[in-house]
Amino acid sequence: MNRNNAGKKPFPWTCSRCREKALFPAIIDHAVDVGHDGRMYHVKVEGLKTPKCKKCGLVSPDSEANEQITRAFLRLAKLLTPTQIRINREALDLTQEQLASALGIAEATVSRWENGVQIQQRSLDNLLRLFFGVPKARSLLIKGKLNTIVLVAKTPAMALT
Ligand SMILES: [Zn+2]
Repeated sequence: MNRNNAGKKPFPWTCSRCREKALFPAIIDHAVDVGHDGRMYHVKVEGLKTPKCKKCGLVSPDSEANEQITRAFLRLAKLLTPTQIRINREALDLTQEQLASALGIAEATVSRWENGVQIQQRSLDNLLRLFFGVPKARSLLIKGKLNTIVLVAKTPAMALT
């Protein structure tokens, strides 16, 4: 996400709905439905700083406003934030590649999570919490030894593998 506002052109901006040059910065209470992982979340952001059209009322979040909405969504959905993922990884002295390898995902995916470009699925958020919070789970994942865990039930089919 672009955090640099130096290159932004001055207001008013052109509204994408009514085509008027009427988008001005506004501070509003905003509610938006966000879909994630097959569920809808009703995200409310009080005091959202966002461009809004004075003619037609269109709220047109810029990158900063979108970050504020994303933070509110992550809080509501109880998902790890990009910063939480990065500082936990760094606290364990792991590279993005090492974390990705332990979780069995692509390095680019970890990079996208930490840059806030992509939000992790609930199942991977669960896995991240086990990885960061449970040393035994972490050790097994890093060593690729999950297959040594004793399962609660063994089936005849498993004896063949
Ligand atoms: Zn408009």
